[in-house]
Amino acid sequence: MAGESQADCLFCKIVAGGVPATVVRETETTVAFRDINPQAPTHVLVIPKAHYPDAASLAAAKPEVAADVLREAREVALEDGIDGTGYRIVFNTGTGAGQTVFHAHAHVLGGRGLEWPPG
Ligand code: 5GP
Repeated sequence: MAGESQADCLFCKIVAGGVPATVVRETETTVAFRDINPQAPTHVLVIPKAHYPDAASLAAAKPEVAADVLREAREVALEDGIDGTGYRIVFNTGTGAGQTVFHAHAHVLGGRGLEWPPG
């Protein structure tokens, strides 16, 4: 069920501490950790602790937690010192957009030039 931890979800396992991750920030509702396959000098994933399959379902069910995720994305950018040069917050939503892990997450990318449009 949405919001409940899923036994087969990789990011729920990271929240529970069953899978190791380089955690950079944690709040009551969110965890932020470095991506295992970074695409930029800063590549951090910010996730809600509760399980929602994607950003759209999170925003529909818990808009206040979606706001927490965005606030934490900003804090990550400030802590990594990429706020001055600019950074990107990405929510891949659906397989066609490149989503591979179906637990809502924001990618925070920065520390290099980022082109537009993305691939
Ligand atoms: P998506 O493709 O769903 O938007 O993003 C999933 C992200 O999770 C990818 O950037 C991928 O590198 C990252 N990822 C996959 N498995 C792990 C893992 O075990 N640990 C961490 N830290 N990141 C992971």
